Amino acid sequence: MTILPPARLEVRRGPLLLSGVDDGPTLAAHRARFGELPRTELALLVDLAESAAVRGRGGAGFPLGRKLRTVASHRGRVPSKRPVVVVNAAEGEPASAKDEALLAVAPHLVLDGAELAARALGARRVHVVTSEDRPLSGRSVAAAVAERGGNLAWSTHEAEGRFVAGQARAVLELMAGRPGLPVTAWVPEAMEGHRGRPTLLSNAESFAHLAALAHLGAARYGARGTADEPGTMLLTLTQPPDDRGRIDLATVVEVAHGDLATDVLVPAALRAPLLVGGFHGAWLHPRDLRGLAWSQAHLRPLGASLGAGAVVSLADGSCPVARTAQWTSYLADETAGRCGPCRNGLPALAEEVRGLAQRADTRRRIGQLTGLVTGRGACAHPDGTSRLVRSLLTTLGDHVEAHLDGACGCRASSRVRVA
Ligand code: SF4
Repeated sequence: MTILPPARLEVRRGPLLLSGVDDGPTLAAHRARFGELPRTELALLVDLAESAAVRGRGGAGFPLGRKLRTVASHRGRVPSKRPVVVVNAAEGEPASAKDEALLAVAPHLVLDGAELAARALGARRVHVVTSEDRPLSGRSVAAAVAERGGNLAWSTHEAEGRFVAGQARAVLELMAGRPGLPVTAWVPEAMEGHRGRPTLLSNAESFAHLAALAHLGAARYGARGTADEPGTMLLTLTQPPDDRGRIDLATVVEVAHGDLATDVLVPAALRAPLLVGGFHGAWLHPRDLRGLAWSQAHLRPLGASLGAGAVVSLADGSCPVARTAQWTSYLADETAGRCGPCRNGLPALAEEVRGLAQRADTRRRIGQLTGLVTGRGACAHPDGTSRLVRSLLTTLGDHVEAHLDGACGCRASSRVRVA
């Protein structure tokens, strides 16, 4: 089963990162909006990242400030220990299009963030990784890099269009000229990454937030969001892929942390199960959507997290059980095939979820399998897949019961083809 990135992209103007949507992506337009690149010492950059609690926006949510500190403390004077900066815009999650959108409308905000970090850490080269499945991202980066002067060297790389190709170690494998698939990491890349060098690898959106902080200062940046989660984040709003795995339209919006879901979701989306965090995310029950706020603090008690900001709504009335079966099949096919529990466990799990979609009560076996594969892979692919399936059984337990009784009332339950 294949699921392709969205065919169409709509980008709405936002309060910060997407404030220049109508300006055009040029360096001149960017400088007119944000000004010249400030000279920001490492200590201040770390302080800005930590005061604004900037976390990785690729899904794992690791604090950017801590990565900066780790790279700084592991760099050395010898060339072999010169730090490297990597902008990860590989965006393997098909339900996400925020990095593609950000690079299309504000590429220099992302590159400013990377340049600020490179200067502060003493790196001489920045690598930008996009995906072959997202040609717009590659074109946007190439055009933006060509506009930038200065003595920093830029390298661009194109990852395979696969779910796990955006994983940090998979990106470093690609940059080393090997297949861009995850491998076991014995030490964090911030200590030893590209060619054994301390490597600051983070998501394109994280670098854009770093740049916005440096340009605006913590106070103006923090004027939006909550006290614990200042600032904004990008969300990708989609509906489920069709039977051939195609997602039609992705709408990318920027929300302040703490903004209400009712501000961006259409009424029909508030009456149906909502997947938050993409295919490695978790289901939310319709009863929890009216008061839902876009913040980790609000989502955590619901068993969910923002992840890479991908939000899939079942406003089309389709059945969450059948959809979960479809996506679990896709995720099982996306294994890199290197770790037994993932290579063998995910197809077995997909089989049981397929059974559930066909109204066989396989919940006990599903519980066993998600327990067996979680924490057993070199990367988080089995964990994320299990999170999705477990949230179906827990958060949408009433939907599953009704589905097994043939009374789920989901209009499309029989129409969704489970590969
Ligand atoms: S857990 Fe799966 S996807 Fe990750 S490295 Fe192992 S086989 Fe590959």
